[in-house]
Amino acid sequence: MKGDLYLAWSSDEEIHKKGDSGGAVTSLLKFALESGMVDAVLAVKKRNGNRYDGVLSLLTDPDEVIEAAGTLHCAPVNVAKVVKEYLDGAKGMKMAVTCKPCDARAIIELAKRGQINIKNLILIGLNCTGTLLPALARTMIKEEYEVDPDDVVREDIDDGKFIITLGDGTKKERHLNELEEKGYGRRENCRRCAINIPRMADIACGKWGTKGKKATFIEICSQTGSELMERAIGAGALMVEPPDEKSIKEREKKDKDGIELAKAWEKGDLDVLRWLPYEDRLKYWLRYFDRCIKCFGCRDVCPICYCQDCYLEPARGFVHGGQTPPHVMFPLVRLAHVADSCINCGQCQDVCPMEIPLTKLYHMLNRELSSMFDYIPGMDVSDYPPLTTVTDEELAIDDVNVFKKNSVSQ
Ligand code: SF4
Ligand code: SF4
Ligand code: SF4
Repeated sequence: MKGDLYLAWSSDEEIHKKGDSGGAVTSLLKFALESGMVDAVLAVKKRNGNRYDGVLSLLTDPDEVIEAAGTLHCAPVNVAKVVKEYLDGAKGMKMAVTCKPCDARAIIELAKRGQINIKNLILIGLNCTGTLLPALARTMIKEEYEVDPDDVVREDIDDGKFIITLGDGTKKERHLNELEEKGYGRRENCRRCAINIPRMADIACGKWGTKGKKATFIEICSQTGSELMERAIGAGALMVEPPDEKSIKEREKKDKDGIELAKAWEKGDLDVLRWLPYEDRLKYWLRYFDRCIKCFGCRDVCPICYCQDCYLEPARGFVHGGQTPPHVMFPLVRLAHVADSCINCGQCQDVCPMEIPLTKLYHMLNRELSSMFDYIPGMDVSDYPPLTTVTDEELAIDDVNVFKKNSVSQ
């Protein structure tokens, strides 16, 4: 049932060996397919064995699932977008989807808007404290670890360090702070991400709390997750034991440390801007908006942008064709459209060819709205965004003035 905790590992010797944390996730996915609970599994696989080229793959043969075993930190794939654009509604196909917290949150936001049928999905959440851009990760490993990036067989983020394991078993580690000050390390949005354990998914899986044992710490987060887990255990696909107090405490501590690190980044990245006088803040953003070449990359990649008839298309007459940089309303329209639902996945910033720090902008406004309306996007499918459920009191002019005063004067 919801809240149940397990230490789990695969009963299949080959999967146990290949999986980073005892192969529990791989075995669960395989069992879901074999048992007919789902028709397909959506998971990340290395393309041609290259761990810096992780691709989302739709697997329908249980024997293929092992190819997606192991964690890839340098594959910031856009799971919700792929589900929405290409897979949802594919003849009612049921899927088990592996997802980071931001992926699960995007899926939930899209489900609220009728864009994804979440009843067809089992969300297998994976703990996450950050992903890296693949090309930058390769450079970082070469420059900072002085090894060939292709010799790396595993990466871990633990105790504030990025740890790599080489083919001969050697481990090398560097502090994240040190790497990130040099512009390496996790993507900028990930540094500020404080949701490490995906409790909004059906089950949350990770290695925290396993005390060095080759196992996965699993938390059940829904009835669907509970059913999958119980059936997999009953069928002998998984070996389990209850985590002891020490394991639970270790997991809580790692989560707390991750949250504190994220809050420190949030403070450094966002508070600095928040406290700027209004005119300077405007100048800061206008300088970036002036760089925009209106490539539409940020809109097209955003899992939350889903309008069929987008305001930003020249045909709507709001933004004029050929005008570069576009009118300042171009970025501001997107801001208004996603501000209450942005899940800080970072995809927009990753694709922006002009290196505009878009996630800072969205995250900053999202943070204001979250605190005003006590709403965190992507946590619960029955909890609707504030701007779709705004009451007369919330729209009262006094409240708006208080908000303006706070954000300008602080
Ligand atoms: S935004 Fe959060 S959940 Fe998503 S990849 Fe980054 S750290 Fe992980
Ligand atoms: S605005 Fe950017 S960070 Fe926010 S959900 Fe869209 S792509 Fe992700
Ligand atoms: S991705 Fe960057 S350059 Fe392209 S439209 Fe968006 S903000 Fe402008």
